Order: sequence, then structure tokens, then C-alpha cells
Amino acid sequence: MADAEQTKVCPLCAETIKAAAKVCPHCRYWQKKWSFQNPQTTQTIGGILAVILIIGAMMGVGVFFDHLVGPKRDFAPYRDQITIINSTLGFRMSGSNLMVSVVGVVTNQSEFGWKNLGLEAQLFDKDDSLIDVIPANGDYRGVTVLPHATAGFKIESRATKKESDYASDKVYVRVAKDIRSWP
Ligand SMILES: [Zn+2]
Repeated sequence: MADAEQTKVCPLCAETIKAAAKVCPHCRYWQKKWSFQNPQTTQTIGGILAVILIIGAMMGVGVFFDHLVGPKRDFAPYRDQITIINSTLGFRMSGSNLMVSVVGVVTNQSEFGWKNLGLEAQLFDKDDSLIDVIPANGDYRGVTVLPHATAGFKIESRATKKESDYASDKVYVRVAKDIRSWP
């Protein structure tokens, strides 16, 4: 028979079948293991994709929780990269109290975002003597500065000297929190 060479033996059931057969007609065994028509192959690929998706989702959840409760960056090494680029003294009356304020702009040259900036203003007279301080623990906790960005700020406290005594100011960023901190 001319067709005799075009047969093979099914590796599963040992029946002689056509060489071109993809599925053994006797036992339904797939002759080619890796074929997209083979339901076993597509099930295996589907399983691998499902595992990858589950691992990805778990990593996403991990990153999310790390963002919330993971270790936070300490501000101290970045202190020199968060600087005041300008500031201006201002005054207003609040009832019978004179209030002294400083408004200005802070710039962040670090790669990281910072929030809850604690800004301290030292206030000087004409002779450059320190006469008053706006402390860094005030209620101006809203200043956030993104990486390589600037932010405006305003800090204020009750003046202990009369307006004409104040001549200049110098502002320092004393503390800041990692922008990922919660809250
Ligand atoms: Zn077979």
C-alpha cells in the first residue's frame, strides 16, 4: 500500500493512525502537545495568565499598603534641598493684637514630595538683632511641596514688638513629612 509510510503509532494507545492526524481517532490523544487547537494547551496558557494576574494584583495591594503604612522617608537628609526663595513681612490688627506674618515661596529640589512643612520665621530689627520668632509648630500644616516644584506659604503669629521695630525676616523649614505619610 502506498499509504503505508504515511502512518504512525499513537504514543498513548499504540494504535496505527494517519501521520497527519492531530488527534488520535481511537483515544482522542492530541499528537502535537503545543497547539492552540489543543484544549490542554489553551487551558495551561490560561492558567499561567491567571497566576500572573493574581501575582500582579497581590503586588498592587502590597504597594498600596506600603504606601499607607510602610516606612517613610526621613526629612533630615533632604533639609538642604528644601529652601525659601523669597519671603515678605506683613502686619495686621486682629482685635487689639498686632499680628506679624511672613508670606513667601518654598522650593523643593529633591526627588521626593514633602508635606506638613514646619516653617519657622526669625524676625530682626534694623541692627539685625533677633526680636521675634514665628515658631514652626503653628497651625499652618497645609503646605505641601512636590518634587522639583515650588509652593507658596503664609505663617503668622502675634507680634511681641511694634510694627516699626521689624525690619527683616529669615524663614527656615524645620520639619516636613514624607508626602506618602498617613495622615
Ligand atoms: Zn490513540
